[in-house]
Amino acid sequence: MPADDPRSRPDERLAAVHARIGGAERLARRDAGGTTLIAISKTQAAEAIAPLIAAGQRVFGENRVQEAEGKWPALREAHGDIALHLVGQLQSNKAEEAVALFDAIHSLDRSSLVGALARAMDKVGRRPACFIQVNLADEPQKGGCTVDDLPGLLAEARAADIPVAGLMTVPPADLEAAPWFALLAKLARDHGLTGLSMGMSGDYETAVTLGATHVRVGTALFGART
Ligand SMILES: *Cc1c(COP(=O)(O)O)cnc(C)c1O
Repeated sequence: MPADDPRSRPDERLAAVHARIGGAERLARRDAGGTTLIAISKTQAAEAIAPLIAAGQRVFGENRVQEAEGKWPALREAHGDIALHLVGQLQSNKAEEAVALFDAIHSLDRSSLVGALARAMDKVGRRPACFIQVNLADEPQKGGCTVDDLPGLLAEARAADIPVAGLMTVPPADLEAAPWFALLAKLARDHGLTGLSMGMSGDYETAVTLGATHVRVGTALFGART
C-alpha cells in the first residue's frame, strides 16, 4: 500500500519515509543516516503519535509551545526518551517554557528573541540547540530573518552563548523548492554552520540531496491534518 494512502499503517509510512531519505542520501553520495527525520506531530492527538513511537520514531516536532506542553509530558512519561523540536514561531514571553520543554528550537529569527532565549537558558539551566530561521523570499506572512540580517543575528546569538546548530527555512509554497534549499546550504557554508533544517512532506527528498541534516515531515507520516 502506498505510504500516502490513509489506510496505510504508521509503521509502514515511517519505513517508506526512511527508504526515501536513504535513497536521496545515496543519490547525493552522502553518508547513510546523516539526515535526522523530525516527525511533525502538530494537531495530532496522542493516540496518533503513540504508534509512531512504537515503530521506533524518537524525534518529534511541534509548532506551538502550549499545544506541546499539553501533549508531551505524558507521552514522554509513557514512552521514555524522546527529542522534541520547536518548528513554529516563538514569542519572547514563551521563551522560558520553550527552553524547558524542547531539545531544539528552529525559529530563532530576531534580536529580541536572542535576548529572551539567552536569559531563559541561563535561568532554566539548559541550552537547546537553535537554528536561525531565514525568510529567503521575504514573504511577509512568514517568520524568519532576511538574508541581509542573518550575519548580524548570528553574531548576536554567538555572543549570547546560544548554541547555533544551523539554519532553517520554509521556502515559498508555490515555487520549486530546490533553488531555495541550495541557497540556504550556501548561506550555512558561508557562515561555518553545519545544520540545515529544510524539507517537508512534499520536498524532503530534494532537501536531502541538497544537504538537509534535519527534515520536518508531518503529512507523509500522519496523513493529512484535519
Ligand atoms: C507543519 C510544518 C511542517 C510539516 O509539514 P508537512 O507538509 O505536513 O510535512 C514542517 N515545517 C514546519 C515549520 C511546519 O510548520
